[in-house]
Amino acid sequence: MAEAGYNTFLLRSEDVYIDLLTDSGTNAMSDRQWSAMMMGDEAYAGARSFYNMERAVREIYGFKHMVPTHQGRGAEHLISRILIRPGHVIPGNMYFTTTRVHQEMQGGMFVDVVIDEAHDPAAQHPFKGNVDIFKLAEAIQTYGAQNVPYVNVACTVNLAGGQPVSMQNLRDVRELCASHGIRVWCDATRAVENAFFIKDREPGYADKPVRAILHEMMSYFDGCTMSAKKDCLVNIGGFLAMNDETILQQAREQVVIFEGMPTYGGLAGRDMEAIAQGIYEMVDDAYIAHRVNQVRYLGEQLRAAGVPIVEPIGGHAVFLDARRFLPQLDQEEFPAQALAAELYIDSGVRAMERGIVSSGRDPMTKENRRPKLELVRLTIPRRVYTDRHMDVVAWSVKSLYERREEIRGLDMVYEPPTLRFFSARFEPQPVGVKTLA
Ligand SMILES: *Cc1c(COP(=O)(O)O)cnc(C)c1O
Repeated sequence: MAEAGYNTFLLRSEDVYIDLLTDSGTNAMSDRQWSAMMMGDEAYAGARSFYNMERAVREIYGFKHMVPTHQGRGAEHLISRILIRPGHVIPGNMYFTTTRVHQEMQGGMFVDVVIDEAHDPAAQHPFKGNVDIFKLAEAIQTYGAQNVPYVNVACTVNLAGGQPVSMQNLRDVRELCASHGIRVWCDATRAVENAFFIKDREPGYADKPVRAILHEMMSYFDGCTMSAKKDCLVNIGGFLAMNDETILQQAREQVVIFEGMPTYGGLAGRDMEAIAQGIYEMVDDAYIAHRVNQVRYLGEQLRAAGVPIVEPIGGHAVFLDARRFLPQLDQEEFPAQALAAELYIDSGVRAMERGIVSSGRDPMTKENRRPKLELVRLTIPRRVYTDRHMDVVAWSVKSLYERREEIRGLDMVYEPPTLRFFSARFEPQPVGVKTLA
């Protein structure tokens, strides 16, 4: 940990025992996916593998058209270029890093219309990712429907802790937007996990297969961006899907500039085969129940031991609330960074800081931004770990909680100018000296 500057991003994976850094591209592929890869058609144009992926997207998501991209942000880039012009406003249910950057690069502005509960780690709500319909109506009124090219709804909401959106909320968003002639776009990165939460929590869906629920969810959208590295159970890939032929035409014109021909979009034929097969596997009810329940299994153990976590437990990760875990530390002593480092030292479990280090500095004042949420994210890859691994993680976190008063803060000794969390270096504060920046 000292060699890695107390930054879990700087560890080598071979030095990690249980890797909960992210669920992105870290999924285990099935025997069928590996076999499908052997069948990859690597033709430059019109590859069979593209048509297999297109068929899977049509059948499972229900969109008529699909353009592959190298990963999710490639799809975000395309839709932002196609629909956003300077002065446009894009309402969404909480920001996501890459999504917002692409909107801003086109001269657009993101407006947050998620319900207030999403910003409070302790607030209980079954669908904490819901759009606040009143806030959305107000945004449309304030900026004018002609300046809102689309509303972007993420299901689930990553930065709120993997919180889902209800089917009723999707219907309400659709209805409001239709009355103003505004498109609705989905960030479908973890939409299968969202569909599972609908089955679990929303009246009328308990007996429906996740596959049918996902299909209904997508029917309220004009299209979606997708990072296949999450739901689709692969290591790389993404796509932009839509029903509108004009947007398809424009997407094909753009993808050829930035990603590749419209029938491969930056992917190898074998990648498209693995995605196509993964799309059928991801809507298996037993699989998705196991996936979400494994996250819950870890979270419940921590909650039972009184460890402060973000609630309700989300679909892809358990978040430790470092503010309540280490109340003795000021936020400028980097409590979440210190806790992630301590967890690795204790048990070789790698987690990630999501707090003041990730937030960076205000570009104007150069002061540290002090975000409300100071979290350590324990993200569970799909089909990789057993529940016994989760027991080890829980045991380690609980033992840290028992000796939490001994955990010291960190000093930042190297700070890169941008996206500092990836490569910043730290040192433990000297014993008995509390150095406040
Ligand atoms: C990961 C992610 C993206 C971006 O996808 P990449 O494949 O990493 O480019 C977009 N939205 C959400 C919600 C994500 O979690």
